[in-house]
Amino acid sequence: MPDIRSTQNALSITKLISQASRSRRFVGILNAGDTIRFGHTSLTLYKNSNNCLFLRNPKLGIDFSLLSGINTIGRGLDQHLVLRDAKVSREHASLIVSRDGTVRVFDHNPTNPSVIKGSMPRYVEPTTKDIIAHLRNDDRPSLAGIVKGLTRNMEKAFRSGVVSLTRDYHGQVCVMNSDGGETTWWSPDKNWHLLGFEHLPTEQERSSTYNAYEEWVRLQVYFGEKNDPALAMKHFQNKFGDPCGIRLLNIQTANDVYYVMDLLSLIPGQTLKNSVNIINFSASRDRSARYAQYKEETKEIGLIRNCIRPDKYLLTGLLLHEMGHAVMHSMNEDQITRLRGLYKRFWNNNNVLGVDFLMVSARDRIRYQYNTNDPDEFAAENFMHFLIFGRQGFIARSRNKALTAELCGLFEELYGEKDFDALEVLAKA
Ligand SMILES: [Zn+2]
Repeated sequence: MPDIRSTQNALSITKLISQASRSRRFVGILNAGDTIRFGHTSLTLYKNSNNCLFLRNPKLGIDFSLLSGINTIGRGLDQHLVLRDAKVSREHASLIVSRDGTVRVFDHNPTNPSVIKGSMPRYVEPTTKDIIAHLRNDDRPSLAGIVKGLTRNMEKAFRSGVVSLTRDYHGQVCVMNSDGGETTWWSPDKNWHLLGFEHLPTEQERSSTYNAYEEWVRLQVYFGEKNDPALAMKHFQNKFGDPCGIRLLNIQTANDVYYVMDLLSLIPGQTLKNSVNIINFSASRDRSARYAQYKEETKEIGLIRNCIRPDKYLLTGLLLHEMGHAVMHSMNEDQITRLRGLYKRFWNNNNVLGVDFLMVSARDRIRYQYNTNDPDEFAAENFMHFLIFGRQGFIARSRNKALTAELCGLFEELYGEKDFDALEVLAKA
């Protein structure tokens, strides 16, 4: 029987998952080292040094390689993995392997459900869709209890994007408090209260806090490196190379590339063509930009070099804000006139909206919009709100619902469709 699994394109995985979740029960994510039981048969997931995944039961002589895409399991002879187990049904379960190696288990069998036995609570890397959904619903999962030594207070400080840890020349752990991405001052005995310490920490507390910070950064700031960068660039070229002609600069991992591709898929097509040439993860600072910027001259969206790289959630908000600047620059005159009109009406009614999650408080973000008195900032910030919260969520948060609905309508016009929703687009990505 030809193995159809290998012909499936890794990019259609999200589609597979959404199909599977409609017709079957989602059991959970199977991590390397976990055991899954189908009927009487237990199998353990292993990953070899080439990151190849396989299910193994040495007693039964089963060694089954999982391929990217769908892997079906059951008693039927047409299944990828055939189990001779009376408690297993003909089409028992499917395992869907994403491009990042995540294995999702779906059950077809309601009477003998598959059971995953994990060894400990684990971290599941969020997809771009997860990140936006968590921001939208304000339910970002905590890593306290998963990262050793991480407390809720530390997590809150790290998530703010302005607190970071480093070691000085003598190897002492220092807590840095950065404003605008640049550290103003540090000393090994300062700023520990920012992490919830009420006393000066002991040597051991300092080093365990430092380890927790490093692990938090590894999980929350960087995208995992489970994919092939050359292949990722090829996917990027196919989608955003000619005729868009977008270049990626200073991107570090394959998953960074996929993440950027996800975000770009949220930008109206005409805007991409007219206003985005470069995505740069280490750009040089221009004028007053703090963490990220959009440069009109080069049509470059960039994170600023030497700043703390914000975690995935902050990064998403920042980049979407900068993409909002790009959107503004692709509007036609009529649209710009209407946007300016809307801005005036928001301003005059004291209805400018701000949210809390972007390094500064909602109050400060609103103040910033009033201080700059700049329709560009208004457009950028609200384009971000529109993508992250969705039309409904954005309107719900706003004090002037009619005005906000009008603004959403203007954004939707750029897509040429009504009810544009970032989560729906990402579900199909
Ligand atoms: Zn801006």
